[in-house]
Amino acid sequence: EASDKVDLVKVLTQAVELTETRLKEAGVRLDWTAPAAPIHVWGGEVRLAQVFVNLINNAVDAMVGSPQKRISITLAEDGPRLIVRLQDSGPGIADPEKIFEPFYTTKEIAGEEGMGLGLSISYGLVQSFGGNIRGANAARGGAVFTVELDRWQEER
Ligand code: ADP
Ligand code: MG
Repeated sequence: EASDKVDLVKVLTQAVELTETRLKEAGVRLDWTAPAAPIHVWGGEVRLAQVFVNLINNAVDAMVGSPQKRISITLAEDGPRLIVRLQDSGPGIADPEKIFEPFYTTKEIAGEEGMGLGLSISYGLVQSFGGNIRGANAARGGAVFTVELDRWQEER
């Protein structure tokens, strides 16, 4: 996939806006404080937004039966890499080894969610930008997904 200069702050804000109605209906509180300045990474604006919308929708699905429904999105810098961390207060991932496999799903309702393709597609997209995506369980419970991307730098 072609890679371009993309504002990661704008992409994350878009993903949050696109899921706002669903979050409200599901009673999920999402914490995301957008930094004031843009942060440029290598990627594709629409494809990256799709990745984060997928992660948010998965978190909402996972928290249906949870008393506390919270998602937090944070950004960190690690040298030439930018790291997005999306953590939820759900039950955690049952089988973290399998989640990026195509058609792996634990959902019973057929439809766009429940096909088991969201994470495998996201994995391919992020890899195509030279990035990485991981899913794990947080020590205090809940799932945490990290998306690592290359910082965009002006060529000199
Ligand atoms: P789908 O959403 O269609 O099931 P995905 O590829 O998006 O497919 O996700 C695959 C599986 O990974 C889910 O069915 C679920 O078991 C697990 N998973 C993904 N996100 C989370 C999460 N935030 N908490 C717990 N499990 C998750
Ligand atoms: Mg999904």
